[in-house]
Amino acid sequence: MLTGKNALVTGASRGIGRAIALELAKQGANVAVNYAGSEAKAEAVVNEIQQLGRQAVKIQADVADEVDVKAMTKEVVSQFGTLDILVNNAGITRDNLLMRMKEAEFDEVINTNLKGVFICTKAVTRQMMKQRSGKIINVASIVGVSGNPGQANYVAAKAGVIGLTKTTAKELASRNIHVNAVAPGFISTDMTDALSEEQHKDMLTMIPLQRLGAPEDVAKVVRFLASEDADYITGQTIHIDGGMVM
Ligand code: NAD
Repeated sequence: MLTGKNALVTGASRGIGRAIALELAKQGANVAVNYAGSEAKAEAVVNEIQQLGRQAVKIQADVADEVDVKAMTKEVVSQFGTLDILVNNAGITRDNLLMRMKEAEFDEVINTNLKGVFICTKAVTRQMMKQRSGKIINVASIVGVSGNPGQANYVAAKAGVIGLTKTTAKELASRNIHVNAVAPGFISTDMTDALSEEQHKDMLTMIPLQRLGAPEDVAKVVRFLASEDADYITGQTIHIDGGMVM
């Protein structure tokens, strides 16, 4: 499905990003594993990809830092030759009720989750324009559609990502660059494992399919959007949420 394609996945050392990196590799892609935290975890993902017979490289970069991201893009192209798929997955939460939320908490989340997508998209677009092809997949969230108390910063960022997806899709369509988003619901990762048992139970009452999602549920849809099977799809946001937000 993705043989010969070269991908960059941000925040790929764990959780959903790791699952996406492995899924793209299983389908034939070489993968650059971006990370900001644990180098050992990024190295482990690189090893798993190499065991699948693909090329992999780990690259440390803060997605919100333009200098880091430009250097990362350059490295991917010099290692692999092309950059065909970008998955903007890196994200953080700093939850707090609006009246308690500090400006720094708002800024930090917007910088990573929204500005990071802008910076990474801009950095790869030059290369994809040269190639006259590319697939960009942004990891948004269903809360960017529905809203969520205690997450004004995160919801604003994810709603912004959905808007950015539509605009970049329109701007880049003539260059054969497809831009789509996925909006996961509650996916079992370090991010959701931090929630209490009671919060988990509350979540299940809201999910028609009656289970939390797995990172692989998201990865499979990203793999589809990265493939030629999705060649007539752009500017869309696909909900992966067990039917939570319809
Ligand atoms: P996670 O915390 O396990 O992984 C996030 C990754 O992003 C980590 O590897 C982290 O190091 C990396 N990261 C954070 N800031 C970074 C930066 N500045 N530069 C580069 N990398 C950075 O979380 P996850 O649940 O796997 O989330 C992945 C994405 O999915 C995020 O965008 C998140 O908002 C989104 N999402 C998650 C859920 C969920 O239920 N888990 C639901 C909806 C959307």
